Amino acid sequence: MLRIGAIEAGGTKIICGIGNEKGHIERKISFPTETPTVAMTKINEFFANEQLDSLGVGTFGPIDVNKSSDTYGYITTTPKPGWGNFNIIGELRKTIDVPIGFDTDVNGAALAEATWGSAKGLNSCVYYTIGTGVGVGVYAEGRLIHGLLHPEAGHIPIKRHPDDRYEGFCPYHKDCLEGVAAGPAIERRYGVKGTELPADHEAWKLEAYYIAQALTSTILLLSPEKIILGGGVMHQEQLFPLIREQLQQNLNGYVQHPMILENIDQYVIAPGLGDDAGLCGAIAIGLLALT
Ligand code: ADP
Ligand code: ZN
Repeated sequence: MLRIGAIEAGGTKIICGIGNEKGHIERKISFPTETPTVAMTKINEFFANEQLDSLGVGTFGPIDVNKSSDTYGYITTTPKPGWGNFNIIGELRKTIDVPIGFDTDVNGAALAEATWGSAKGLNSCVYYTIGTGVGVGVYAEGRLIHGLLHPEAGHIPIKRHPDDRYEGFCPYHKDCLEGVAAGPAIERRYGVKGTELPADHEAWKLEAYYIAQALTSTILLLSPEKIILGGGVMHQEQLFPLIREQLQQNLNGYVQHPMILENIDQYVIAPGLGDDAGLCGAIAIGLLALT
């Protein structure tokens, strides 16, 4: 069995782990994201004396994944204090001498779900995380999608719900998808955390309205074989039927496929890897570094 080091760097916490080519996690730790200096110390402690075959890093973005760029391996324009223009891969290479793979946390999660999870065996899937932010990973025709950077569909424009008076919190766009639908938007709109709202609260109808719009665009643009919805907010399981119903209404019969017309409850689904989707994603990215 291979031993793959994995780092999932999220907005609020970082998870380090070691796993294998079956996606099994041998051990893991988690700590708050804080500053890059603190994070690097904890990461180095975790991997000290470990024999690894490769390392995979899945992180919040935007990041530079273009191998021919001078800033390959950097976290680039994040407003997160201390993390802007941070050369995370360069720092890791100082202490970890194995092939290192680098991608967004959500691209990793999409790959892990296609390898071991809810989209196992399929050639395509899209992975959304709805948490502190909204992130989207795209796996299409058997590989992860990159381009100028990488997909950033958390920031797509969406149509406002006519009853929504909340302005949105995205520092770049205010009321993009992330600005109105990530966890902090729910909290600021209603003045309490999402976890404190009852399952039949109108917040979830609004949330489903926004997420379903994003999924509508996703299906029309990419035609994925599965859409996987993870992240803290999606722990509100009542969202799934609300999103599916709104999505069918939005598409209005235009996309004639049984996955949408009849089996939508198997099409828009939770991560098969549960809350390990991100860490397994980093393992999957680490495996790719060996190919
Ligand atoms: P991160 O995005 O930092 O990786 P999470 O995916 O856990 O972390 O997302 C955290 C966000 O999700 C917070 O805004 C939090 O309030 C919200 N959240 C977490 N759990 C729940 C829940 N069960 N119901 C609603 N919102 C939740
Ligand atoms: Zn935005």
